[in-house]
Amino acid sequence: MQMRTNVIFSVAMAALVAACGQNGSTTPDKADAGVVNLYTARHYDADKAVHARFTEVTGIRVNTIEGNADQLIARMTSEGAASPADLFVTADAGALWRAQNANLLQPTTSRALNAAIPANLRDPEGRWFGLSRRARIVAYDSTRVQPADVDTYEEIASPRFRGRLCVRSADHVYNLSLVGALIEAWGPAKTAQWTRGIVANMARPPEGGDRDQIRAVNAGVCEIALTNSYYYIRMASGDDAADLEVTTKVKLAFPSLDGQGSHVNISGGGVAANAPNRANAVRLLEFLATPEAQTMVSAGNNEYPASPNVPAPPPTDAYADFTAHPMSVATYGLRQAEAQSLMSAAGWR
Ligand code: FE
Repeated sequence: MQMRTNVIFSVAMAALVAACGQNGSTTPDKADAGVVNLYTARHYDADKAVHARFTEVTGIRVNTIEGNADQLIARMTSEGAASPADLFVTADAGALWRAQNANLLQPTTSRALNAAIPANLRDPEGRWFGLSRRARIVAYDSTRVQPADVDTYEEIASPRFRGRLCVRSADHVYNLSLVGALIEAWGPAKTAQWTRGIVANMARPPEGGDRDQIRAVNAGVCEIALTNSYYYIRMASGDDAADLEVTTKVKLAFPSLDGQGSHVNISGGGVAANAPNRANAVRLLEFLATPEAQTMVSAGNNEYPASPNVPAPPPTDAYADFTAHPMSVATYGLRQAEAQSLMSAAGWR
């Protein structure tokens, strides 16, 4: 028995040495470890259900480490080469860019991912891939505002809405990415003017999250609010009676940027730079891009699928008939510092 164990051990060691030699890496290839360490800033039940399904299909256990994006980035940075992180997942292309910019992600080449995810929703170098989409749009008081009043992003900052806008703080990545996209489309001068219009239009200093802005519209604090689509859809289709009531008066408008569509962002993920279970990380990413996973996440979290071949399931399908701007979401992070300085110069706190 002892001898047999030794033989098995020797064979396993030989295979391991061969594997290391093959890919020329100093990191042992532990691709068969049966686990993927997922550092995720998404804490949704829909994600957990998808991970359970992944384990069912592949036998690979998903070991989840949770935190917000900046916490996880700090953790991966301090762990360095010894980091157990295999896959980093978060909301917002601007947050994925922060991880990329800190050299925490490595490129992935995957035919399945490239086929499922459009080029404008992933990093051109394959360091991250969009897995679901959300639009940053307008919730409006339907008793005082017509959809045509807010069918462009310019109108949100126009004198028509002086003192009538609710919006969350400037430092939130959703707003940084939106302003980054506007800089990309309009250039810095027009965008600076827009941010000054936003500040002039604020009904109150920024406070709370997107849902709080939608509720403030209902309460008459403001007539319009900037929000991500899924917050509104969740309120309109959930089982919270008060939120449901809000959405009888407050409606959703999809402003267009230069006639090309609404500003869209992603949730997504990328393989960690020092992933010990790299192959498992790629498998999970590929699984998250399948129609099954895309549908589960959309159904549970009211985001839009990233894959154009997957229709949004109910209840999100009722809000899916809009044009998304074709801009590459990879530009948002590149414009983040510029966006931050424009917003702060305008007094957007
Ligand atoms: Fe969110």
